[in-house]
Amino acid sequence: MSTPAPTPLFDKIALIGIGLIGGSIALEVRKRNLAKTIVAATRSAETAATANRLKLADHCGTDLAAAVKDADLVIVCTPVGACGPAAKAIAPALKPGAIVSDVGSVKQTVIADMAPHLPKNVHFVPAHPVAGTEYSGPEAAILDLFQGRWCIVTPLPDSDAKAVDRLEAFWKALGSNVNRLDPENHDRVLAITSHLPHLIAYTIVGTADDLGGHLNSEVLKYSAGGFRDFTRIASSDPTMWRDVFLNNREAVLEVLQRFQEDLFYLQRAIRWGEGDKLFDLFTRTREIRRALIHLHQE
Ligand code: NAP
Repeated sequence: MSTPAPTPLFDKIALIGIGLIGGSIALEVRKRNLAKTIVAATRSAETAATANRLKLADHCGTDLAAAVKDADLVIVCTPVGACGPAAKAIAPALKPGAIVSDVGSVKQTVIADMAPHLPKNVHFVPAHPVAGTEYSGPEAAILDLFQGRWCIVTPLPDSDAKAVDRLEAFWKALGSNVNRLDPENHDRVLAITSHLPHLIAYTIVGTADDLGGHLNSEVLKYSAGGFRDFTRIASSDPTMWRDVFLNNREAVLEVLQRFQEDLFYLQRAIRWGEGDKLFDLFTRTREIRRALIHLHQE
């Protein structure tokens, strides 16, 4: 006997932006029958046509306000710099009582940009699924992206408790583990775990490219020595990452300062042949990798 499909958590979900994250949410919502209707809207007609061809949502258009009409849950899935304008565009059409959320990789500026536009009769519950790939656009959408990954929910002091619970239930239903952080803490943690590693990858790949001439082709040829892993990260979407750095400026600059100090420490150890300092650090970092594998977050 087949298991009956679960009762949908929402009647209508609207996704504003339907790239890697919005598209993957849509696929998962459909597979798990979490909403009766999924409607999406995006900026360009071209992306909307691709989303429609891939049947990610029941319908995808370019009118953001039209998409959120009657939606119980609205998730803004645009680059963080576009979240404020998106909130402004959808505000007049939001259904009273709707939950409005986002997936932005930065929380404090997204909240500051979105909250002032939202009417008092909707529930704003910001969130960030810590899951992704280096690909972007609707064609990058995949099933199981959120499976076993963390979704960080960053409620506001006045967020409605029931709305927070419902959004958390939604992310759990998508396969995520859910945790709550305050937005400032979120931005600090992500600055070191995600934003700085991307900045380092962009820098290394840029530096290698600047070497120019024959070195350039040698770099590509021998990239398995570590460089290749950086090129994967450094191929991530330029718009998304430009917005992340501009919007998490303080936290990124703070960890960058610490990183530069630690880099100088290593530079000095190499210069003076202090192998024990290098060995001690590399031993400590190897343990961190082992701990990650243990937590299944590798
Ligand atoms: P993406 O694949 O590039 O998709 C972005 C979507 O937003 C596209 O549909 C794009 O539409 C639309 N968009 C862009 N500017 C817009 C605007 N001004 N108005 C309306 N729609 C607009 O990006 P993504 O990777 O899904 O990232 C989306 C959000 O998720 C970002 O805030 C990012 O910080 C966050 N996030 C990303 C990852 C990751 O690994 N990628 C992980 C977690 C969270 P058009 O193509 O029509 O312009």
